[in-house]
Amino acid sequence: MTTTEAGSEATVPSMEGPGGSEGGSDAAVAAVEVVGSLSPSRAGDFMTCPLLYRFRVIDKLPEKPSAAAARGTLVHAVLERLYDLPTAGRTVGAALEMLDPQWERLLEAEPELAELFAGEGGESERAEWLEQARRMVERYFTLEDPRRLEPAERELFVETVLASGLKLRGYIDRVDVAPSGDVRIVDYKTGTAPRADFEARALFQMKFYALVLWRLQGRVPRLLQLMYLGNGEVLRYEPDEADLRATERKVEALWQAIRRAMDTGEWRPRTSRLCDWCDHKQRCPQFGGTPPPLPSAPVVRPSPADLESAPRERDDL
Ligand code: SF4
Repeated sequence: MTTTEAGSEATVPSMEGPGGSEGGSDAAVAAVEVVGSLSPSRAGDFMTCPLLYRFRVIDKLPEKPSAAAARGTLVHAVLERLYDLPTAGRTVGAALEMLDPQWERLLEAEPELAELFAGEGGESERAEWLEQARRMVERYFTLEDPRRLEPAERELFVETVLASGLKLRGYIDRVDVAPSGDVRIVDYKTGTAPRADFEARALFQMKFYALVLWRLQGRVPRLLQLMYLGNGEVLRYEPDEADLRATERKVEALWQAIRRAMDTGEWRPRTSRLCDWCDHKQRCPQFGGTPPPLPSAPVVRPSPADLESAPRERDDL
């Protein structure tokens, strides 16, 4: 069951340090040969459109920086570093003060982001973009009080290998652990309200993370919490073991479908509303384009280490 609500206080307010492991069910498959890897973002790409997955993972075609993605990265960076401050100093003012320096830091790491506001009117666009980021940071403080939280982990990289040899990996925005040992996975979304189909994709992403943590720690996370900073909605979901087993079956089936596409070279386009934001529209047959030839065999069947080797990407909807 999911619940969606606005402006509510978090339900597990008291957290402590890093969560303990109950057991390493992952150890049993540690020696399994890795046959491929999947992150929630790329799994989501394939579900959205197999051709999009091909363009991103097989062809590795570059994409233009996006203002929305950059804003998401900026807001996430601020919320991550907010918890470096002493508890009493985690105020909205302190968070807002981080915006400019964090933007400078991102620009230094990814100079191409400067292109976002390089054109005529770029400075006013940048000001409006920054104002939206400010509003998201302010809205975060209406949803929970960071002075009452002590996350166990932030920007946590997790990976595990399933019995089939499929490696699952990804970054979790925040992990909270209650004194009881209950684990809450938190994800910040800088898009707006989830429409039904986007909500399903976001929940799949959270269950994916829950599956990985369950496999790593032997304990089903108690709560998955999506915080939509665009409109202040919070979506919570309590997974159970059956849920996570179903997610594992889904992920395995998805991987089999990806392998079939690799074997046959058939990467079918699937149109949706997301085509409007697709960087590859001009080479998509659904819009009169022609995909480039598939890369030669060694790249068409990349090594597991090559697959999914892209850096951290936001999956904000
Ligand atoms: S334009 Fe649409 S159908 Fe074509 S590759 Fe992009 S997402 Fe897929």
